[in-house]
Amino acid sequence: MLFPSLRTTPDKTALSFGDRELSYADLAQVSGALAERLRGLPRVAVWATSSLETSVAVVAALAAGVSAVPLNPKLGERELAHILSDSEPALVLTEPGVDLPEGLSSVPRHDVEITGGVTDPLPEPDAEAPALIVYTSGTTGPPKGVVLPRRAIATTLDALEDAWQWSADDVLVHALPLFHVHGLILGILGPLRRGGSVRHLGKFSTDGIAAALTGDGTMMFGVPTMYHRIATEVADDPRLAEALRGARLLVSGSAALPVHDHQQITAATGQQVVERYGMSETLMNTSVRADGERKPGTVGVPLGGVELRLVDDAGAPIETSDGETVGEIQVRGPNLFTEYLNRPDATAEAFAEGWFRTGDMATRDGDGYIRIVGRKATDIIKSGGYKIGAGEIENALLEHPSVSEVAVTGEPDDDLGERIVAWVVPSGAQPTEQDLADHVARLLTPHKRPRVVHFLDSLPRNDMGKVMKRALSA
Ligand code: ATP
Ligand code: MG
Repeated sequence: MLFPSLRTTPDKTALSFGDRELSYADLAQVSGALAERLRGLPRVAVWATSSLETSVAVVAALAAGVSAVPLNPKLGERELAHILSDSEPALVLTEPGVDLPEGLSSVPRHDVEITGGVTDPLPEPDAEAPALIVYTSGTTGPPKGVVLPRRAIATTLDALEDAWQWSADDVLVHALPLFHVHGLILGILGPLRRGGSVRHLGKFSTDGIAAALTGDGTMMFGVPTMYHRIATEVADDPRLAEALRGARLLVSGSAALPVHDHQQITAATGQQVVERYGMSETLMNTSVRADGERKPGTVGVPLGGVELRLVDDAGAPIETSDGETVGEIQVRGPNLFTEYLNRPDATAEAFAEGWFRTGDMATRDGDGYIRIVGRKATDIIKSGGYKIGAGEIENALLEHPSVSEVAVTGEPDDDLGERIVAWVVPSGAQPTEQDLADHVARLLTPHKRPRVVHFLDSLPRNDMGKVMKRALSA
């Protein structure tokens, strides 16, 4: 059973969104009633607003054995049309009173009512049947529908229980959207599987985080853009610092947490943010453990049940653990997806001898800690005969007092093959290009210095705060 606490701790608070709450008994009733209604449908979409209704809809679909497709309410017309024709939902489940876009008018609407209903549990669906279809973030290309069986969901959540000593006593604070793995599977289904509670803020603010953690919150999940905001404000906000100091575990994921932000948060609160690494296709692969050494800039060690290897350009496994040799991360294990929806070609291409090719490049040190240097497609710059990871240069630039945000890319260069380009959002006075190049050449080796610097007001980011590097070109 995915959520035993629906039966075992009926009086406990399961979910709270603002001043609206559901106990486990309430959740069992309302999701049970909806599951009866959904039974036998091929597939449903969920208009994934940050709400109780979205959470109830997903729990109901899981109980009914009907695969659910969470939809980002901010999708553009073309993206929505693509996802609807790809996934063909029989219904769209939504919060009552919400306006749906024209593009959804061909799909019957079902408003999720938070009222009581039947409580008899339905038979447990097949562990291998499609449970959720989550579209990737679309960071590197059009989003792909990732078919996730309940086996993968249960496996990943149980591995995190072990890594984070995650228990029924934990109250998770988060403000992440509910249409991706991070906010939905980890942030909602995770606490429900543990029998703990979720306190969702609706919208991220550092005040909201401080208030929720000062209350009964024990853990926080966030993306690096949230921790960046915290890092910039925490030194001048004693209430925020105190709230974070009292938390049991602060977790970051979905993109790399800059080392500088990690260090600023530690300096102000004594807390060391724990990083974990995962993808829609694999759910969680690695994490820094709650009881393990925290090494800023790393994503920790493989989770229980996950086999991880680094391979070189020829696909041969790299056996050394020197913290320097870079290879592509490939993974195998019960946490993996079944396939990309309607994309047998892409599914076949994603695997090498049964190993999933993540497209992420990393090093491994003697303790088995993985350090992600970037994505193979966009973050490895081949310049002057060297292969340079964008992340290392980004981390160095963020240590400059006049740099608030940065993305590093490569562009073609007649002499070097590629030259290093930095896209910088300044903080305060704008630094000079020379200043930034000298700064990098001092911290790292000189060939890693940016040859071109562009100054911007903000970086192009998607809903998870990930920088869309393909949108950055001069
Ligand atoms: P698309 O596949 O559509 O281009 P996406 O890869 O961003 O989008 P997701 O599956 O949501 O979609 O994100 C997984 C990716 O996020 C990983 O492959 C990795 O590049 C990045 N990522 C996740 N966690 C971390 C982390 N802790 N550090 C660095 N990168 C991370
Ligand atoms: Mg991806």
